[in-house]
Amino acid sequence: MVDMMSLEEMAKQELKKLESENRLWKEHRLESPASSWSVVDGTKQLMLCTNDYLGLANNEEMKKASISSTEAYGVGSGAVRVISGTMSIHKQLEEELAAFKRRPASITLQSGYVTNFGVLSTLLDEDDLVLSDELNHGSIIDGIRMSRCEKVVYKHNDMDSLAEALDRANPKGKMLIVTDAVFSMEGDIAPLPGIAKLAKKYGAITYVDDAHGDGVLGENGRGAVNHFGLEGKIDIEMGTFSKAFGSVGGYIAAGEYFCEMLRNKVRAFLLSGSHPPSVAAANLESIRYVQKNPKLLKILWSNTRYFKKGLRSLGFDTGKSETPITPIMIGDSGAAQKMADELFKEGVFVIPIVFPMVPKGAARIRTIVNARHTESDLDFALGKLEKVGRRLHII
Ligand SMILES: *Cc1c(COP(=O)(O)O)cnc(C)c1O
Repeated sequence: MVDMMSLEEMAKQELKKLESENRLWKEHRLESPASSWSVVDGTKQLMLCTNDYLGLANNEEMKKASISSTEAYGVGSGAVRVISGTMSIHKQLEEELAAFKRRPASITLQSGYVTNFGVLSTLLDEDDLVLSDELNHGSIIDGIRMSRCEKVVYKHNDMDSLAEALDRANPKGKMLIVTDAVFSMEGDIAPLPGIAKLAKKYGAITYVDDAHGDGVLGENGRGAVNHFGLEGKIDIEMGTFSKAFGSVGGYIAAGEYFCEMLRNKVRAFLLSGSHPPSVAAANLESIRYVQKNPKLLKILWSNTRYFKKGLRSLGFDTGKSETPITPIMIGDSGAAQKMADELFKEGVFVIPIVFPMVPKGAARIRTIVNARHTESDLDFALGKLEKVGRRLHII
C-alpha cells in the first residue's frame, strides 16, 4: 500500500488542475423525481437539462409496470444473463423491441455505454478499419480504443470527408462506419441516407447510435433510421433506455445471428449482472407507451419549435440543432459556467458543456425541452435566459 496521504495529495492536485480548466464537476442533488420542474439543492428548478424527452422517467404507467414486476419477480435477477439471469421479461423486452425497431432481433445490455463499449470492442479487431464521425459519443470512442482496430476520424457529418477516407482505405479485415444518429452536444442529425449509400458502395458495415433519436424521431418514436425511411438499410442499430424511454439500459437491434453472436461474445453480457425485473418491465412499458401515446411526440416537437424560435428571436446562437437538443453557443468556458450558475439562481437548470466534451472555445449551454413542459414553462425559461443573457452581454 502507498502512503494514503500521497494518494490523497495526488487526487487533490488533479482536482485543482480540473478546476483551473473549468472542468470541475459540480454535483447537484435532485430531491424530487426528474420532471419538467424538480427540486434541486433545495430549490425549485425548471429542468432544461434532462434527457427525459417524453416525461417517462416519472410516468404513472411506467411506475406501475416496474412495481408490479418487482412484486412478482423480486428486486434482482440473481445472476448474469448467461447463467440464470435471463428472465421471461428480458426475452419479452427483446422481442417487442426488435418489432418496434422493425428488425429481426435485439439484445439488451446494462447501459448504452456498456453496449457501445462491449459491442464495438467485440466486433472489431486489429485487421479492421473503423470510420468514425469526429463528434461521436465517448462510449463509441472507448469501444473502438478497446478493440485496437485502425481508426479514421472523418469530419462531422461531412460525406466528402467520409468518401475520401473510404477511397483511401484498404484494411485486411472489415470496414465499419459508426455514427451518432443525433449528436448529443449539437442536436443535429447524421445524414444517414448518404452514409448508407457510401457504405453500400464501399462494402462497409453501418453502426448507428440512436440514443437521442429513439422516442424523438420517426413514426411513434421508432428512431432515426425510420425517420429517413432506411429500415433494413443500416446493419446495426444501437440505442438506450436512459433517454426518451425514461429508465436505463442499452440495446442492439440487428439480425438474428448477429445478436446471437453478441450473446455469446460480449463480455458485459457474459460477466456482469442482468437488469432487475423492474428495469426490464419499465423498458418494455416504455416502448408500448410511446406507441399508444403518439400525442407526446407531437407535444415534444411543438415545444421544441416554440422554444427554438424564442431563443433565436432573442438573438441567441443555437448552432445547427434540428432536434429538441438546442445548444446556446457561448464560446468561453468560464462564461458558459457563469451563465449556468446565474440561471440556476433564477430557477432554470441547464448545464454548461465545456472542453473536453466540446472543442476549446466552443463552450455552450445545452437545453433540452420535454413533452411535459407547458408554454408558460417555456416562456418562464425564455424570460430568464433573456435576463441573464443581457446581464452577461451574450445577447
Ligand atoms: C447517453 C448516450 C450514450 C450512453 O447511454 P447510457 O445508456 O446513458 O449509458 C451512448 N451514446 C450516446 C450518443 C448517448 O447520448
